[in-house]
Amino acid sequence: MNLTFPVIQDINNYHSTSQRIRILSESWLKNEMYCPACGCDSLLKFPNNSRLADFYCSNCGEIYELKSKGSPIGKSILDGAYYAALERINSSTNPNLFIMHYHDCHVENLTLVPKYFFTPDILKIRKALSPNARRSGYIGSMILYGNIPERGKIAVIESHTELNKNIVMQNYERSARLRVKNINHRGWLMDILTCIEKIPGDNFSLEDMYSFADELALKHSDNHNVTAKIRQQLQFLRDKGFIKFTGRGKYTKINN
Ligand SMILES: [Zn+2]
Repeated sequence: MNLTFPVIQDINNYHSTSQRIRILSESWLKNEMYCPACGCDSLLKFPNNSRLADFYCSNCGEIYELKSKGSPIGKSILDGAYYAALERINSSTNPNLFIMHYHDCHVENLTLVPKYFFTPDILKIRKALSPNARRSGYIGSMILYGNIPERGKIAVIESHTELNKNIVMQNYERSARLRVKNINHRGWLMDILTCIEKIPGDNFSLEDMYSFADELALKHSDNHNVTAKIRQQLQFLRDKGFIKFTGRGKYTKINN
């Protein structure tokens, strides 16, 4: 994998930096990236401004979107129009998301967030643009990257080094076990995963999890039995091989 953006003739005809970066980073992904879902050697580009996504795999049909940033990814990343983005998260055609950090036309980091990790919670609405702005009234959004569970951030390139393709594919396959179609159920699962990740070390108890009950009740005000919901989600994570029940209300995280 070549980690440098391709040379594109006429790139300087594009006046806006964001447009140039979009073309360079998308060309890079199309030339260099394989499909993490099935291993197919390349991804294909949808026509520009496709409502669905940026890329697709002709072998397995997975769809992907790419967002790039010229600085480390940090806690949030700019996304498109809020209501369209929200509708997409709630739809069955929500794409997987590649997030790229580039520097001087080199790919420094590339992370894949599988579609199952997106919930309305991680999308933040931005203030509508002022009446004087060129796109007056436009309401944008931010992806709260920091709120996505670590399990949902699959490294493909880290510190300018490509990770082994088989490991990337294994991690993707593993995360796909957390696939939950119902967006409300998915919200619960992501919240419970986040709580588990907040507990330091590999071992935790049901009591540790109950300490998040108030916080979870605030987020899910329609649910009146939060502790039962916590136990149900722990059972799901145990069945999917993400945690192990070691008896008497004690659990161990399974990290790989
Ligand atoms: Zn594929």
